[in-house]
Amino acid sequence: MPRETMTSLPVDCQATLTIDLPAIVDNYRAVRKLAANADAAAMVKADAYGMGIAEVAPALFHEAGCANFFVANLAEAVELRHHTPDACIYVLNGLFAGHEAYFTDHKLRPVINSPEQLALWKANGQGLPCALHFDTGINRLGFSPDETAQLLNHASPLKEVNIALVMSHLACADDKGNSLNKQQLETFRKISATFPGIPASLANSGGILLGPDYHFDMVRPGLLLFGGNPSLNAPLPADIHPVFTISGRILQVREVREGMGVGYGSTWNAPHRSRIAIVNVGYADGYLQVFNNVGHLYLAGREVPVVGRVSMDMLAIDITGPGFSTVSEGDEIELLGQHITLEKASELSNLSQYEILTGVRERYHRVYIPVK
Ligand SMILES: *Cc1c(COP(=O)(O)O)cnc(C)c1O
Repeated sequence: MPRETMTSLPVDCQATLTIDLPAIVDNYRAVRKLAANADAAAMVKADAYGMGIAEVAPALFHEAGCANFFVANLAEAVELRHHTPDACIYVLNGLFAGHEAYFTDHKLRPVINSPEQLALWKANGQGLPCALHFDTGINRLGFSPDETAQLLNHASPLKEVNIALVMSHLACADDKGNSLNKQQLETFRKISATFPGIPASLANSGGILLGPDYHFDMVRPGLLLFGGNPSLNAPLPADIHPVFTISGRILQVREVREGMGVGYGSTWNAPHRSRIAIVNVGYADGYLQVFNNVGHLYLAGREVPVVGRVSMDMLAIDITGPGFSTVSEGDEIELLGQHITLEKASELSNLSQYEILTGVRERYHRVYIPVK
């Protein structure tokens, strides 16, 4: 349903996703401080990690001075061009034959991942800028080591190509101790040194936390902008904050006797007489069954456990105990946000922070806190 038609409905008839644009702008500024000698692009693929590219990208462009954006594919890029007419937009998936005119018409920059794509852009790119992507160990996209050697030994393929950026991507940036980080760093140092004067970029959010050696000329944060912790071994930097809240409502409060089951499959049975609250968020909202019997929500100043299986449209929590005695139908409850952070929800469920974030569904009533 278009968001406009929802505004005439009572706001409490569904769960709410509140997205704090000033917090995203602040996180971007915090990243600029963490990588003080580098520029910072914003990764806004997958609808800005589910937070809404139409709102997030203009806020970063106008309020934070972010000039460079990366999306995954051409469709995302054309949409982003509409929202940020003056930004530099890079397309990570690269260039397919037959798509060149879309890139040139919309002034999009392909991230060139192979010799074939390079030839296509050379022939049809009208001298417009592109990025070159070198695979230094993740074995995903980009010039392979052999193709890289070939390219660097024969400079002619690079003639008449307008290269605005050389980049690579880390495989294990979330794990500071992984030796692949240093290997990729050394490999990328050598490659980027053969492009003097052309900006180089290696670090995603995790790479930013690996330290200044990894920052080069431009960092490419995604998760950090949205308040996630990209490191398995480092705490979240103090000035990175959650940027969104999912708040549901309690539909019903009920008493269950000792031994009774709650929800499909009766996977949780009351250890004693219990008070159960039913919340209006389920897996169809993106609150997945990985949270069955392990999720925590936040209510009345404390964490409260999910009991039983998450249903399509609702879930159950155990609110037994004096701390919850005043809880009643209609009360608001946090599913994710300031208290149940991405990092915490990921620890509880073993689902990655990225999947929790990008899994947030359109079904919520969306509210954007404006920058001004
Ligand atoms: C998604 C992506 C990023 C951003 O990663 P985060 O971990 O979210 O910061 C950076 N670079 C490339 C090539 C990506 O695909």
